[in-house]
Formats: sequence, C-alpha cells, structure tokens
Amino acid sequence: MDAAKFTIEEEAEVRRAVGAGEGAVCPRCHVAMTRRSLGGGSFGLGYARRREWFLCPRCHRSVIFDLKRGTRN
Ligand SMILES: [Zn+2]
Repeated sequence: MDAAKFTIEEEAEVRRAVGAGEGAVCPRCHVAMTRRSLGGGSFGLGYARRREWFLCPRCHRSVIFDLKRGTRN
C-alpha cells in the first residue's frame, strides 16, 4: 500500500491550479497528474457532483476532491 500523501499546502496548490483551469501538476515532481473522473454513482441527488481523482504517475500521491459547479463561499 502506498499511503503517501501530499501536505496540506501541496494539496491546496493542486486544488488552486485545477480551479484555475491550469490542470494538475504534482508539486513535488512537477509532472502532469493523471486525472480520472469518479462517477459519484448517483445522479439522483438533484445535481451532478463531479468527483475527480488526480494521481501523480511518479510519486503516486493522489488528491481526490469534489468539483462543485459554481461553488461560492
Ligand atoms: Zn509526484
């Protein structure tokens, strides 16, 4: 099992880059991360929630997060 994780700061950087439409780049390896869409399995929740998984092909760290359309806090 590879349980390596990004630090909070690294993960935040990935989120920022993705949110900015730049795509995910591993903050450690500086290589493009593989993106996979994880089907939430249910579209019956009223709106489509996109969950995406970004995996670094080099260090195998990954980030999973929900991309909610029009998120505003
Ligand atoms: Zn990496």
